[in-house]
Formats: sequence, structure tokens, C-alpha cells
Amino acid sequence: MGDTIFHRIMRREIPADIVYEDEDVIAFRDIAPQAPVHVLFVPKVDVATVNDLQPAQAAIVGRLALAAAAYAKREGFAERGYRLVVNCNGDGGQTVYQLHMHLLAGAPLGHFGTP
Ligand code: AMP
Repeated sequence: MGDTIFHRIMRREIPADIVYEDEDVIAFRDIAPQAPVHVLFVPKVDVATVNDLQPAQAAIVGRLALAAAAYAKREGFAERGYRLVVNCNGDGGQTVYQLHMHLLAGAPLGHFGTP
């Protein structure tokens, strides 16, 4: 298993504000939120970046998106809207090398641009 900070959160070695978990996905609040709601959805299998995704792992991205949408509905902001972001490598702004999907919500986020 990988050893990023997200793996340590999954192993419960460091604390996080976990808002959702199932057998495939864990979700917790970003420690440096860029919007009123900022939650990270992380798969429980090792995938460092989108570049490393294999065709057989395509469902992983779907599971992250479905978990994020379910969270948005549960929390009541699905209709107002939200943004899902996956950063890849340096130019994409990725800092933690375990695949993750950002969910940003709670205020108008503008069109494109960094949150
Ligand atoms: P990225 O830049 O796409 O790799 O996103 C990594 C995100 O992880 C950043 O938004 C960080 O604020 C967030 N982050 C880093 N360490 C922690 C942590 N211990 N708990 C929650 N979020 C974290």
C-alpha cells in the first residue's frame, strides 16, 4: 500500500474529519478548504495520478463521482451545484500522489479558474 498522507488517513494513523466511507471510497474534509464545503474523495486502491489509471480501473473514477454526488444530495446542495476537480501532476497542481477528487461547494465558484 502507498504511503501518502491520504493512506495514513485511511489507516487511521493520522486524524481527519471523515464524512463518508464505504468499501471502495473514503471522503474527508480538506485541511485547507478553498470553498465553504471542500471534501476529498479518495479511492482505497493505490492509484497515484490519473495518468496511472488502467482501463480495468475505470470504475474507480465513477465511484468517486457517485460518492460525491450522493454526499451533495445528502447535504442539500446538489441542486445549487458544486465543482468536482482532479488535479494531475505539477502543472495540474497535484500535491498528494494518491488519486483524489475535490468537491467544492457552498458558494458560487465562478467559471473555470482555480477555486
Ligand atoms: P491536490 O493538490 O489536488 O493534490 O490536493 C491535495 C489536497 O489535500 C490539498 O487541498 C490539501 O489541502 C489537502 N490535504 C493535505 N493534507 C491533508 C490532511 N492531513 N487532511 C486533509 N486534507 C489534506
